[in-house]
Amino acid sequence: MEHKHQEHAALADTFNANEPRVNWHDETLWWVRQKRDRMAWSLPEWEELREAASRIKHNVLGNLHDYLLEFEKNAVANGAVVHWAADAAEHNKIVLQLLQEQGVKRMVKSKSMLTEECHLNPYLAEHGIEVVDTDLGERIVQLAKEPPSHIVLPCIHKKKEEIGELFHEHLGTPAGNADPKFLTAAARQHLRKEFIQSRVAITGVNFAVAETGEMVVCTNEGNADMGAHLADVHIACMGLEKIIPQRKHLGVFLRLLARSATGQPITTYSSHFRKPKAGQQLHIVLVDNGRSRQLGREDFRNSLKCIRCGACMNTCPVYRRSGGHSYHNAIAGPIGSILAPNLDMKEYADLPFASTLCGSCSNVCPVKIDIHQQLYKWRQVITKEGYTGKTKAAGMHAMNIVLSKPGLYKTAGGVGRWVMRTFPAVVNNGMNPWYKQREMPAPPKDSFADWYKKNRK
Ligand code: SF4
Repeated sequence: MEHKHQEHAALADTFNANEPRVNWHDETLWWVRQKRDRMAWSLPEWEELREAASRIKHNVLGNLHDYLLEFEKNAVANGAVVHWAADAAEHNKIVLQLLQEQGVKRMVKSKSMLTEECHLNPYLAEHGIEVVDTDLGERIVQLAKEPPSHIVLPCIHKKKEEIGELFHEHLGTPAGNADPKFLTAAARQHLRKEFIQSRVAITGVNFAVAETGEMVVCTNEGNADMGAHLADVHIACMGLEKIIPQRKHLGVFLRLLARSATGQPITTYSSHFRKPKAGQQLHIVLVDNGRSRQLGREDFRNSLKCIRCGACMNTCPVYRRSGGHSYHNAIAGPIGSILAPNLDMKEYADLPFASTLCGSCSNVCPVKIDIHQQLYKWRQVITKEGYTGKTKAAGMHAMNIVLSKPGLYKTAGGVGRWVMRTFPAVVNNGMNPWYKQREMPAPPKDSFADWYKKNRK
C-alpha cells in the first residue's frame, strides 16, 4: 500500500472537524491528568522519587552496554534465549522465524508499543499469521483497524457507543448495548478462547533487571500473565532502554509509573518473568531500532529515560486537542515527537513543532525528561538540516533578520500596525493559519517600547 504522508496540522484538522468530540477528548485526558496530580501529591516524597528515577536512568544510559550484557548473561543462565535485533526489520524477522518454527497461524499479544513501533502485526499478517491483541483497548482499535492513539489508553479517542457497535459487528453482542461492564465481560469471554488456544504469546517489557535477568510487565487486566502462562512459547520484546540495574530499583519505578499513567497507586498486575516453566520456551528480543543513535545525540539522549507512562500526553494541550492519530507515529504526544525524528527526520519533521512549549510535559514527567527543551532543540536541528517546509523556512529567515536588528524591528512593527489597522483583510483572511478559529486582537496604537517609555514611573 502506498504511504501517503500527511502532516500533524492536516491530521489535526480532521480530528478538529468534530468539535464535541475534541472537547470530550480534551476533558477526558485532563481528568486523567488530575487523577495523576492527586496521586502525586499524596506522596510527600514524590519529587525525591522522580529525582531518584532520573538518576538511575542516567546511570543506565551511561553504562548501557555493560548492563545489557549483564542482563543477557543472567537471562541465559535462567534458561531464556536472548536475541539481538538492530532494527525493526530484524525484530520482525526473528519473531516470524520463532512462530514459523512452532507452525502457528494465530497467536496472542499483550500490549507492546515496541511491536507497534516495528509494525509487527501487518508484517506477520503478510506472512499469514494473525496476531490477536489482548489488552482490551488494543483489541478495540484492532477490531476497528486503527492504530492505538495513546500509549497507555490506546482507544481513548473512541466513545463507548462506538465500541458497542464494533463489538456487535465482530463479537456478536446485541446491537445498541454500550454498557461498559457488559462490553468488558463480552471481550473477556472472547479473549479467554484466544488465550486457551494460543501456543505462542508475545508480551512487551516494562522493566528488565540486569542483576537478575528478569523482566517485569505491568498490566491492569492480567493479559500478559494469561498469555505467557498458557503458551508453550513466550516471546518478550523489549527496547534496549528498558534496563534497570537492580531489583531494588523497581520500587522507585513501579511507584511512579502507575501514578503518572492513570493515577492509580500501582498497576493491578506487576508480573515478574524470570525463567521459563518446565517445557516452555522463553525468548527475549532486545531491540535497538535507533536507540543507540539517540543515545549518541547528546541533546536527546535523555529521551531514552522514558518509562512510557503517557503523562506528558495527558497534560499536553496540543495532544488533547489534536488526537493521537495526528502524530502519524506509534508513540504520539510530546515524547513521541522527540523519538520520531530520530527514526526518520524527514517523515517526522513536523512533530517537534506540534507543541506550545509550555513545559507542562516536563513538569509531569516522572523521570524528569526535559521534554519541551528537547522539542525546541529538534526544531533547530530540523531547520538546520533543511527539513522544514519552504514557507516556514522563509518565514523564520525573515524573522531572524527582523528580530536581530532593533531599528528594522521598530520600523516593521510600525508598518505592521498601520497595515493591520488600515487594511485588516491583509492579515485577517483564510490564508493566515492564525486567523482560523481565532479572533485577531485589535492592533495597539503604539509599540510596547513606546508605551513603556510613556508609562515608566
Ligand atoms: S516522557 Fe516522561 S511523561 Fe512522557 S511518557 Fe515518557 S516517562 Fe511518561
